[in-house]
Amino acid sequence: MLCPQRHCLLASAYAEGAGNFLEACEQLEGIIRDAGMNRWCAICGSRDLRFEEGTTSYQTMAEALPHLMANEQRCIDSRRLLDSLGQTAAGAGSFDLDKIMRETRRRWR
Ligand SMILES: [Zn+2]
Repeated sequence: MLCPQRHCLLASAYAEGAGNFLEACEQLEGIIRDAGMNRWCAICGSRDLRFEEGTTSYQTMAEALPHLMANEQRCIDSRRLLDSLGQTAAGAGSFDLDKIMRETRRRWR
C-alpha cells in the first residue's frame, strides 16, 4: 500500500498461480484492520493510499524469501529510525509493528 509519494505502508508477496493481486489486497486489508493501523501515510499524511502490483525477478517464493525478509528488516529499521526522530505522525506508531511484520511474514509462506 503506497501513498502518492510512494512511501510504503505495507507490502506482501505471492507466487504466481498460488495467489493473486486481489487476494493479496484482501489479506493486507485484514492486517490493517486487525492491527488497528491508521489509514494514512505516517510520513506525509496522505490519505490517498492504493495497492500496486509488481513482479520480481525471483522464480519461487523460496528464492524470494531471504530478499523479502532482508527488505522487511530494512523497512522496520527505517520506521523505527523515523519514529525515533519524530518524523512520523503522532500516534502513528501506536500499533504493534512486530505483530504486523510477523503476520505479514506468516502469510508469505
Ligand atoms: Zn507518504
